[in-house]
Amino acid sequence: MNILVINAGSSSLKYQLISMEDEKVLAKGNCERIGLSDSVFSFQSYKGEKIQEQFDMKNHTEAFNRLTKALLDPEHGVISDVSEISAVGHRAVQGGSRFSKSVIIDDDVIKGIESFIPLAPLHNKANLEGIKACYEVFGKDLPEVAVFDTAFHSTMPPKAYMYPIPYEFYEKYGIRRYGFHGTSHRYVSGRAAEIIGKDISELKLIVCHLGNGSSIAAIDGGKVIDTSMGLTPLDGFMMGTRTGTLDPSVVTFLEEKENLTPEEMNDILNKKSGLLGISGISSDDREVISALKEGNPRAKLAADMLEYEILKFIGSYIVALKGLDAIVLTGGIGENSFIHRRSICKGLEFLGIELDEEANEKMVGGAEGKITKDGSKFDIYIIPTNEELLIARDTKALIE
Ligand code: ADP
Repeated sequence: MNILVINAGSSSLKYQLISMEDEKVLAKGNCERIGLSDSVFSFQSYKGEKIQEQFDMKNHTEAFNRLTKALLDPEHGVISDVSEISAVGHRAVQGGSRFSKSVIIDDDVIKGIESFIPLAPLHNKANLEGIKACYEVFGKDLPEVAVFDTAFHSTMPPKAYMYPIPYEFYEKYGIRRYGFHGTSHRYVSGRAAEIIGKDISELKLIVCHLGNGSSIAAIDGGKVIDTSMGLTPLDGFMMGTRTGTLDPSVVTFLEEKENLTPEEMNDILNKKSGLLGISGISSDDREVISALKEGNPRAKLAADMLEYEILKFIGSYIVALKGLDAIVLTGGIGENSFIHRRSICKGLEFLGIELDEEANEKMVGGAEGKITKDGSKFDIYIIPTNEELLIARDTKALIE
């Protein structure tokens, strides 16, 4: 059985075709700059075939047609007929309070995703574009499944997900913490339980997904009890270009002093802040780290702030969990940046965490394992995330 996994953004469409017998990625790629000039289509198969071409795609349907053609290509392709695709799993972002699990898509589910557009305008609209394009190219008989970023966090209790604003705004608009990266937190925590060799129901885990966007989740017995992202993926701690949590007065103060519209303020909070805003160098952690090594003080400040904020979340979640079995790091930074990992471990030494320096420096580029010494009171694991695989597994389970 082959499952096609789709991650549709407003101008992009990432895809993977996964063979579920051995969970092997048969082909993957990206359609970039959809609807813009100079669109780029890329494709890579497990056989090593690669396509990278400038190909104008006016909309998601054209992108779908292009990727289907590549999958079926007699020379580069990996399947010989569309019937070899059993179902399509879509990454969906905001499932609100309604979708606590993955679901088979039907008209009612589409209405549900539409109803949460006000909470995630760009993302949910893009996900719907992907679903619509899929119907147009494959017809309505091919099952489609939606796997929501917010679903894994739906177990949070009200004391964790409510914001202390007038209650009527929760009732009127659904303003609350939803959390994101749920598929990654679920995959990584499940994998951690496998590596530790215990049932997830017995474990208290803190998962730090550190990428361009970052979030931390406290997971007790396989259930999220708190997470750092909130109503939107802006909440939490500093990211590549996002602020994370701020004193809300900073927003009103700046709007007034700089005469900013809500859109301009939104742009500052989402696109000009975080590592980029503080370092003035880049949103990319690798560039910040190399500037830090050259002695750039603002790059050092950005790295210090990031590590300090991560440590504060870990500290508060240990209390929320009333204990800890392990910390798991994932995402581009978690999987690769041993410099940040070293600082985070040093900050936790007083709790009995002992870093294995050699393992830490080796655990990069997709490696999986422990970076703490045997005998460390708690362990820290590096686990590369694989959201696509979890989307494919959910899709398979639902259609079966
Ligand atoms: P996204 O959130 O967009 O999925 P990623 O999880 O790929 O992003 O994370 C991107 C971040 O990870 C960037 O800040 C980048 O510098 C960092 N990163 C990615 N690969 C490496 C690497 N090999 N070494 C160090 N940092 C890396």
